This record gives sequence, C-alpha cells and structure tokens, in this order.
Amino acid sequence: MEPITFRRYGHQIVDWMAEYLENVEKYPVKSQVNPKEIIEKLPLEAPIQGEPFEKIFSDFEEIVIPGITHWQSPNFFAYFPANSSHVSMLAEMLMTTLGAQCMSWETSPAATELEERVMEWLRDMIGLPKNFSGVIQDTASTSTICSLLTAREQITNYEINSSGMNDKGIFTTYCSMETHSSIEKAVKIVGLGKENLRKIPVDEKYALQPEALKEAIGSDIDNGMKPTAVVATIGTTGSTAIDPLKKISEICSKYKIWLHVDAALAGTALILPEYRWMIEGIEDVDSFVFNPHKWMFTNFDCSAYFIKDPEALVRTFEILPEYLKTRAKGVKNFRDWGLQLGRRFRALKLWFVIRNFGVEGLQRKVRFHIDLADSLRQKIEKSSNFELLAPVPLNTICFRYNPPNIDDNDELNRLNEELMHRLNRTGKLYMTHTKLNGKYTLRLVTGQTNVQEKHVNRAWTLIQEQTQVF
Ligand SMILES: *Cc1c(COP(=O)(O)O)cnc(C)c1O
Repeated sequence: MEPITFRRYGHQIVDWMAEYLENVEKYPVKSQVNPKEIIEKLPLEAPIQGEPFEKIFSDFEEIVIPGITHWQSPNFFAYFPANSSHVSMLAEMLMTTLGAQCMSWETSPAATELEERVMEWLRDMIGLPKNFSGVIQDTASTSTICSLLTAREQITNYEINSSGMNDKGIFTTYCSMETHSSIEKAVKIVGLGKENLRKIPVDEKYALQPEALKEAIGSDIDNGMKPTAVVATIGTTGSTAIDPLKKISEICSKYKIWLHVDAALAGTALILPEYRWMIEGIEDVDSFVFNPHKWMFTNFDCSAYFIKDPEALVRTFEILPEYLKTRAKGVKNFRDWGLQLGRRFRALKLWFVIRNFGVEGLQRKVRFHIDLADSLRQKIEKSSNFELLAPVPLNTICFRYNPPNIDDNDELNRLNEELMHRLNRTGKLYMTHTKLNGKYTLRLVTGQTNVQEKHVNRAWTLIQEQTQVF
C-alpha cells in the first residue's frame, strides 16, 4: 500500500470507528449468527493476487460485523466488561504504528521506563504498598501462572527450574469453590496438579471460609504434603464475592505459604478509597493481579501484575542467551518478568487513559457504575416476582425470576434459562448466567464504559416484559 492510500483509508477508518461507537446500539448486542454461517462465506484458499482494500473492507462490514458480539455497546451486561475508550483506541493505533518489541530496555527504553512509572501510578492509585513492583501481562490467566510458578520455585529453592519435578513431593494449592477457572488451568500448567488443588467451601456470601482453609492446610501438612500457594479472590466471577483477605493472609503468614490475589475485575474499584477495605491484609500478600482491560477503559489486552519480591519473579523467568545480552546496567528487562519474550507496548495506552480521564475521572465513572448496580438491586429487592441471589458489593447483580406461584427449583431453573435466551434473542441486551447453590442465576453487570441509567432501566423493563409469556 502506498503512503497516500494509507492516509486516505486511515482517515476513513477513523471515521468508521467513531460512527461505529456512536451507533453501536443499532446492532444486536449478541451476535445472532448460527454456527458455520461466517466460515461458509470465507473462501477455502488464500487469494493469490492482492485484493483492493475497498473489497476487503466491504467484506469486513458484510461478513465479519454480523458475527460480532458488541462488547462496546452500553447494552452489554454479560460476563464482565472488556472496556475500551476513545483515548485507549488512539493509543493502540500509535502502538501498532511503532510496532516496537518491548522485550528489554534496549529494544525501546521508553517502553520499559513508561511501564515502570505507569505501574507505580497504578499501584498507588489502588492502594497497594510501595514495596510492590508492577509489570503488564496480557491476561489475569498469565499473571496467575507467573505467580504460581514463582511460588513453586521459591518453595523448592529454584530446583524445579533446574532439575525438573522428579520426586520433589506433592505441592498443594488452595482457592475457594467460587474461584475463576484460570486457577485450575494454572495449577495444571505449572505442574502442581489439579488433584492437589483444594477448593475450599464458601460462606453464604460466596466468600472463602478461612477456618476451612486452615483445616485443609493442616490436614495436608499432616499427610506430608507441601502447601505451596493460596489464591484469594477479590470479586469472584460468579457473584463478585470478596474473600476475607486479612484472615487468609494471617493463615498464609503462619504457615509461610505464598499468597496471590486475583482481583481481575474488582481491582479497579480499589481506586475508590471507600473500597480499600477489600484489601485489608495486603502487606502480607506476595502477588496481586487486576485487569485494566476489564473495567478501567483500557482496551484488551492489559493485565496489571504486582509482585512484592520481583527478584523471585526474575529468578524464575530469567534467561540470557548470547543474542539477548546488552550493556545497559541498572535497567529492567521485562522479558524476565513473565512468559513472553516479545512484548507489546501496552504501557502507552494505560498512560493515555490515566492521563486523559485523570484519577478523579476514573473514580467518577466507577462510582457511577456501582450506583447503577445498587439502584437495580433495590428494584429487584422490591419486586415480588424476582429474587436477589447474592450481595451486590460492586457492579454485578445476581438474581432470578421467582414468582410466588412457583416453588420447584428445577422449574425455576428452566424458566430462568428460557428467560435469558429470550432476552438475548431480542438483540436489545446481552446477559449471561452462573449457578449459585444449584440455582440458575442471571447476572447483569453495569460496568460498560458508556452505560447510562436509561440502559439499565430499559433492561429491567425488558426483563419484566419477557416473563409475561410464562
Ligand atoms: C476475568 C477473570 C479472570 C480471567 O481473566 P483473563 O484476563 O481473561 O485471563 C480471572 N479471574 C477473575 C476473578 C476474573 O474475573
């Protein structure tokens, strides 16, 4: 492509981007295509001759867009948000333009030093202690793998790294029954073993029971196993339950067990001083992850991983072949802070976002989202046909349709599943579900960047309307 053509299409695409976001509500929020519908429109083989950009772009609009679920729609209430913002998108364009590989300080000093400074800002913004260092990873899943690998190496004096697992004993890991699936995935990958992951029971608020944790650790020690790591969740995926960090950290300190905090979604709420109670006990935590790409208006991917002892992390990951040796001293080489060698310049978009919103701007939006959830919670509590199924500490409301004339749980599960699919088929909103205590639970998350009160009100009206056929 010639520079002049790039310029022309570049401007057109920015116009398209702006219009897309302005009119995103006109699309069905959840893609309505059937399986195979997209792939059947794609040629079996790659084109031999280059095709004109217009043709590619019109196929993007006609083939790809119908198969997109619109995460940036303010009517997106599913899963957790994967938010973006105008300023983040602009920074992403610049990152792409530079196309820099930010694996070591030398491969782009600004990328390394900006990452260092922005992660200090973020650490202070969410109230982590000053002795934590930060690095940007792609996802919380990866951050948790890094954490458990470091825990594994620390407990074995870095021997598994050098001589492999052999017969080094059984290493047990602990989390609650409501913990995200990425923890189980991580213990599999890290070699700790799924069978050695203890899923500790939760209380009526779906938070880990510290007494049960203590018992499980004690019994594993009695059986000759090596308790290696505990993963506490601040904001579980099902219901945003908050594990009691202080009590968990006391147990971990007592038994000298590595403590990792998964706050993938809820970490953003820590920019609000009134939510710092969630991390009481943080001084005794070893590592902490949260995703600005979820609820902090920074487009995917951007996962903030903080660690108290970066030397342990670097010692776990460091590798120095001849072709990577450089002369710069006293600098960070972030390739040694995680799995990947090549790294994107993700600090740039975080820097743009934090500066453009300002801490107060971010706080305002997050508080607004929490208030939206709270007002819907009140309406659900007042309604005789609906029932709240979990506390609403943050931006996620767990509830179900439960009219006075139906008692059977199976029937309620069936009706709620039907209700959710009916709602999603309207294209006017998108919600997903979880199961809490055997109850099919509708989840509505009020955390999308541009969600307003009218969107939540409309969703609530629609939910009520769709039950009228039952
Ligand atoms: C979303 C989420 C994850 C996974 O995040 P990725 O960045 O997609 O890996 C892990 N834990 C919790 C609590 C989450 O909400």
